[in-house]
Amino acid sequence: MPGPIPPAAHFDPDAVRAKYLAERDRRLVADRAAIRDLTADGNFARYREDPFTPYADRGPVADEVDVVIVGGGIAGILAGAHLRRAGLDRIRIIDQAGGVGGTWYWNRYPGVMCDVESYIYLPMLEELGYIPTRRYAYGEEILGHLEAIADRFDLTRDALFHTGVTGAAWQEDTARWRIRTDRGDEVTTRWYVLAVGILNLLKLPAIPGMEDFAGRSFHTARWDYGYTGGGPHETPTRLADKVVALVGTGATGIQCVPPLAEAAKHLYVFQRTPSAIGERGNRPTDPAFAGTLGPGWQKARMDNFQAVMMGRPVDVDQVDDGWTHDYARAQHPPRREGMTLAEYLRSAEELDYGIMEAHRRRVEELVTDPATAEVLKPYYRYICKRPCFHDEYLPALNGSNVTLVDGPAGVERITERGLVVDGREYEVDCIIYGTGFEPELTPLYRRAGHEIVGRDGVTLAEKWADGAASLYGMMTRGFPNMFVMPAPGQQAVVTVNYTQLAVLGAEFVGGTVGLLENKGVEVFDVSAEAEEAWTRTIVDSFVDSSAVMSACTPSRINNEGHPEAMNPRNGNYGRGMGNWFGYRQLLEEWLEAGVFEGLELTVRSPSS
Ligand SMILES: Cc1cc2nc3c(=O)[nH]c(=O)nc-3n(C[C@H](O)[C@H](O)[C@H](O)COP(=O)(O)OP(=O)(O)OC[C@H]3O[C@@H](n4cnc5c(N)ncnc54)[C@H](O)[C@@H]3O)c2cc1C
Repeated sequence: MPGPIPPAAHFDPDAVRAKYLAERDRRLVADRAAIRDLTADGNFARYREDPFTPYADRGPVADEVDVVIVGGGIAGILAGAHLRRAGLDRIRIIDQAGGVGGTWYWNRYPGVMCDVESYIYLPMLEELGYIPTRRYAYGEEILGHLEAIADRFDLTRDALFHTGVTGAAWQEDTARWRIRTDRGDEVTTRWYVLAVGILNLLKLPAIPGMEDFAGRSFHTARWDYGYTGGGPHETPTRLADKVVALVGTGATGIQCVPPLAEAAKHLYVFQRTPSAIGERGNRPTDPAFAGTLGPGWQKARMDNFQAVMMGRPVDVDQVDDGWTHDYARAQHPPRREGMTLAEYLRSAEELDYGIMEAHRRRVEELVTDPATAEVLKPYYRYICKRPCFHDEYLPALNGSNVTLVDGPAGVERITERGLVVDGREYEVDCIIYGTGFEPELTPLYRRAGHEIVGRDGVTLAEKWADGAASLYGMMTRGFPNMFVMPAPGQQAVVTVNYTQLAVLGAEFVGGTVGLLENKGVEVFDVSAEAEEAWTRTIVDSFVDSSAVMSACTPSRINNEGHPEAMNPRNGNYGRGMGNWFGYRQLLEEWLEAGVFEGLELTVRSPSS
């Protein structure tokens, strides 16, 4: 295998490519993406149970509401808020969780925080007159803020929590959706909104022997504070005599390591691929910050971030962090006039190499043991894997009670006593799976966890079997009065700051329903021509990046090493991650025109 590569000044594309490919190949092992199907495998169902809120008995509910929103995360709450503004009375959020918050309800592991700046990630800051206390807020604060939005818009009055939607079917005769749940409820509703999440299905790797482990095990998205002690903001006090294994060093794993290293008798960190870990620079909010903000500041700040991420010129980079410095540059390398394509591609590669070299030097500076530092260095292009940012993770690995176990092929086996990597068994008391989530590319009908039956008995899974088909990524023919909150890989756009997309989707859903109600529309459906045209637009702008992405270390960004399998129908509006500003303009103009272009409408008869 090629040895270490030289610093940026001596960039040798052939040597760099050879090193990156060799590192990729060590990770391209059969079954690397194999996971437990927690929606089907009853043996592992306990990993999904809610450890945070006790279940309360209640009888089944049978009634009619104005709207059912499946999912009470950021997208569901924002949709609810805008539907309330549109004048809807009975708004029913249904969620398997014991309350609102979605991602932020479920993910309460020690150290959890957002990785996009709080001032643009927490929605509706202006409406609620709230300023986050830190540049990157901890999960508890984000959850509290989402609860405050739900209270402000009275969204829990009709909600059903600890309730899973098991089926939804369109009733042609009554022009209503009938929703069934795992608590025996049967709810009819005029409007039906899917806000089921982008990273809502937690992922457990299919490692042989997992069921044999005799100690405690859980996933980071269901943290077991009963076992570890402490709380999201406190040291897990009951781990002082425990040997703990943490599997996974992605965005979640790296956040958990510092508190676990502080608390555990010994911590083994099992790494398959090192993340690129840039500087975080978290800090308390400057008390003077609020005074600098004028009306409309949050939208302007989100737009400023988005413009930088799309490589557009801005006067000031307001967020000014690792995303805007490195990720934006790597995604949109500057192209000088007169450059040939080959020159441009080479300069993009060199720029990426410089960014990754800086990350590798950072590891050397922060990790004292050279052998540990070497395996922590990420050898792939920056665009290959979602970058991470943290200031305490790498130093925490210097602790005498912390061992990094590097296994590019992953954990081989789990035994009654522990984990096996490269034939060596590591005995532990507890295994914590920081193994993330099924990617947002998992089809909507799977992420939704229930069968959705539209007109003529056709299910969404059947209709989207060969890829999405929609108008604006939010409405689909044959599923009347149904909205899907926009998401990556679903004919909308991709945003690093998901909240900005959720805000846009919620404004569109609330605005459209308000208009339809005002005009006395009973039922809408998407016309065949409009759906065909939008889907063609998406397919036509698809860029096949598999030549570049197939050289990447496998990750969810390159479809675990199979970028060639990406379906152009599941692409975005515009090239690459999508044309965000163009997409927003389209939606806003569509709403403003108020003529529902592309929809087929049934207007209520005056007597009904
Ligand atoms: C630890 C962590 C940190 C993150 N940090 C960031 C960040 O900094 N920036 C960023 O942009 N994104 C971040 N993300 C991504 C994050 O998921 C989104 O930002 C956002 O929270 C998604 O909101 P949502 O409402 O779409 O989905 P979710 O928050 O996932 O909510 C969906 C809800 O739907 C419920 N649900 C689904 N199906 C059913 C069903 N059949 N019946 C009942 N309920 C159902 C689920 O229980 C869930 O509560 C992070 C994700 C994680 C896990």
